[in-house]
Amino acid sequence: MLIYPFDLDVNAGYPSRSSFVVKKQDSDVGYGVFSKKRIERGSMVARFTGHIVHTVVQHSLQINPTTHILDTHFAGYLLHSCNPNVCLDMIDFTIWALRDIEENETLTMDYSSTEDVLFKQFKCLCNSENCRHWISGRKERVNDEGMEYLESLKINQIRKTA
Ligand SMILES: [Zn+2]
Repeated sequence: MLIYPFDLDVNAGYPSRSSFVVKKQDSDVGYGVFSKKRIERGSMVARFTGHIVHTVVQHSLQINPTTHILDTHFAGYLLHSCNPNVCLDMIDFTIWALRDIEENETLTMDYSSTEDVLFKQFKCLCNSENCRHWISGRKERVNDEGMEYLESLKINQIRKTA
């Protein structure tokens, strides 16, 4: 059974309930997409779809600077990581595995890879080695709250090493 409540070709690669689950991870993070099966690096994870919108809204993904796709069933719930395990092809609306993904692993993407401007900038706690700690769109400045947060991390870092 497909996750999307739309009449879609079941053989086209749209996500099924037997392969993925969209659920609340914990109260802080909100919804996430989990793989119920192992996915090999380099393979297509799933095809996605949604509604075309012309402003950035929560859960929308940028197709081009003036056009976005809002998928409130699947891809819109992908969580961010600075070291993600999937990437999105925003031309043919497909998701690809950047590395092997294990059963029950959360699918993560880098929001800055698709978005010029985020609906809302946020603090990142992805814990990856290359974590940027504050996530903004690829064409926007870190906002004041972000600058303050990054500054406070720097101060803590200096204190730790001193
Ligand atoms: Zn991060």
